[in-house]
Amino acid sequence: MSRCAIFPPGRKAPEVKKNLQDMLDDIEREVQYTRSLIGKDALDARVMEAMRKVPRDEFVPPNMKSAAFENGPLPIGHGQTISQPYIVALMIDMVAPEPEHRILEIGTGSGYQTAILSQLCSKVYSVEIVAELSIAAADLFKRLGYQNIEMRIGNGYHGWLEHAPYDGIIVTAAATHIPEALVEQLKPGGRMAIPVGLPYSYQELMLVRKDEQGKTVTESVLGVAFVPLVDKESVSQQ
Ligand code: SAH
Repeated sequence: MSRCAIFPPGRKAPEVKKNLQDMLDDIEREVQYTRSLIGKDALDARVMEAMRKVPRDEFVPPNMKSAAFENGPLPIGHGQTISQPYIVALMIDMVAPEPEHRILEIGTGSGYQTAILSQLCSKVYSVEIVAELSIAAADLFKRLGYQNIEMRIGNGYHGWLEHAPYDGIIVTAAATHIPEALVEQLKPGGRMAIPVGLPYSYQELMLVRKDEQGKTVTESVLGVAFVPLVDKESVSQQ
């Protein structure tokens, strides 16, 4: 049987709906493509197991369900997106969460990355600037039974001092520079993953490592494109 099909102009090719296993395979394939940049052939098995456990289709809007297991970002309203699964997995792998760790996430968004983190560490603190997104994610966590997540509505540029220091920090929106407050709130030995660069352009995904003496080393891992880290207390509610 021929594997090729030619569709007349104006006719759409039949859509192949991807499932969870396709998504995991696509992540593994993309890790392979980018191995010279990210310095590894495979992500941590615990991270991949958490990616298998958390149902991405619950975190996308109803009209996006058919694309829930595509390895790409999707709109979630308010001009924001649920991140690409490969990037979610890579960023979590970069901060290397351990079961006893407490992790800070800036940019809850859909809550998908938050839920995956919650499988891998003892507590996730997640800050989101758009109130509606934070409330919707909190409802979802309750419904799906994720209990080790504490959330705050506000500007995560300043971190979350009350619970600092953190073993790891993940920033899921692009900053023009690495916010000093976040570096300060990282434990010695801690790791932070953050996209840094121009808004609405390409950024570099950076890994910030703080050594036991408190000295930080920053390296660029990969080119990425994230929505901007908003630098004010309120954003327009679309
Ligand atoms: N990991 C999330 C990504 C969401 S997109 C997911 O997969 O769903 C980035 C999120 O960061 C958006 O929800 C946006 O509203 C939020 N954000 C942007 N600037 C912020 C800021 N200064 N503080 C907290 N959240 C912010």
